[in-house]
Amino acid sequence: MSLPKTIVFATGNTYKLREVGAMLAEVGVEVVGLDKLAADLDEPVEDGDSFEANAILKARYYSNATGQICLADDSGLAVDALEGAPGVHSARYAGVSGVREIADAANNQKLIEALRDIQDRTAHFVCVMALCRGNEVLATTRGEVEGQIIEDPRGENGFGYDPHFYVPEFECTTAQMEPEQKNAISHRGIAVRMMLERLRGMM
Ligand code: IMP
Repeated sequence: MSLPKTIVFATGNTYKLREVGAMLAEVGVEVVGLDKLAADLDEPVEDGDSFEANAILKARYYSNATGQICLADDSGLAVDALEGAPGVHSARYAGVSGVREIADAANNQKLIEALRDIQDRTAHFVCVMALCRGNEVLATTRGEVEGQIIEDPRGENGFGYDPHFYVPEFECTTAQMEPEQKNAISHRGIAVRMMLERLRGMM
């Protein structure tokens, strides 16, 4: 079964666009970002109480606005000892918005502070992808990757919590991984590959 030639991936996050773009390029699908389609649109308010709800909310919003089938994701970090926090609030955990790198640094600082006297550092990254045509949900997929939160940051790649997310199996953080390696094991990589399977089944 063939895949579509292009897919609109509705995100304002250039890191995510790069990750998903690279994965879809491998199977010959070009990813069209919002910069090409809807650069002037305001972002929707992500007020859902689950990753699923927010991914669907974003995919619906951008599909209705552009008239195209849209793929969107919602992702975040869930720390067991913090009862799943920061969860759906991962992007604005420390209450800082605006420049992504500044918000990321504040979020990481808050996370390390919250875990200061806690031994259990188990956590997972979660990514839910939704594909919508207008309000119709065509498919959702979910990927997770297990890790440990470490105090001292390691690595320069990736974004967000990557420098503090240590994956024991690979003995490094997701910020120390090359982009291909992160895509091969990550929550987003798993969710994208599952979505490709769903797309193949629809074509
Ligand atoms: P979203 O754009 O609403 O999905 O917010 C996702 C937030 O979760 C990001 O701003 C990061 O803080 C965090 N996050 C999600 N995926 C990753 C990842 O692959 N690495 C590091 N942080 C991530």
